[in-house]
Amino acid sequence: MYIDAHTHLDFFNEKIDDAIYEINNFRILTIANGMDVESYLQNKEYSKRSEYIKATFGIHPWKAAEYIGELKDLIPYIEESEIIGEIGLDFFWVEDKESYESQRKIFNFILDESIKRNKVISIHTKGAEEEIYNILNNYGYNKVIIHWYSGDIKILDKFIELGCYFTVSVDLGYSELSEEILSRIPINRLLVETDGPTALEWVNGEYGYPSAIIDVVKKIAERKALSIDALSKIIQDNFFELTEIKL
Ligand SMILES: [Zn+2]
Repeated sequence: MYIDAHTHLDFFNEKIDDAIYEINNFRILTIANGMDVESYLQNKEYSKRSEYIKATFGIHPWKAAEYIGELKDLIPYIEESEIIGEIGLDFFWVEDKESYESQRKIFNFILDESIKRNKVISIHTKGAEEEIYNILNNYGYNKVIIHWYSGDIKILDKFIELGCYFTVSVDLGYSELSEEILSRIPINRLLVETDGPTALEWVNGEYGYPSAIIDVVKKIAERKALSIDALSKIIQDNFFELTEIKL
């Protein structure tokens, strides 16, 4: 079995049947992150079609401004979702600085409500690594998956020290920084992800079907001098140590 700890099934649109076929065929436990309420509900529908699909609720920083007036309405979704994601801050891809306060408001609200409920949280940190580290460190909370980290190495080391888990993504083999990050992540905190079909497309132009996770595992196995089976076992142990997800 493989585990794709962070993807976006709702991005597959008309290709969703092919994606679900692969998930079942290759036995890929798939953590289908929500970007907003609509995508969460869509992923919940998809989760009825495969025991390997788990939908998680989150409001992505790119969508934060749309939810600013209805914070309390989000609580039932936070309560029912076993893992929370994708939430976070993005001060890199989002250039409109006026949105940063809405991002903070949504992120801090969902984070706080999730920590109260002891949820595992999948976090997007792009360009906001230090701020997010400081917030988590203040809570002393580490039931966290830092998704596709690409920031400063010194802050990575602080997240490692805090005890967070990390996903390595489809840019492995294309990015020096990702190699460096992989080499620093303790093997017992390592997870992998595809981040939906568009992430691989962004990296090398290929559409990223769920089976792209196999390639990520293969590349890490080569770098760690492990067999694919041995590495898959380590990733499974890490994931089930962190979460209460059952198959
Ligand atoms: Zn994502």
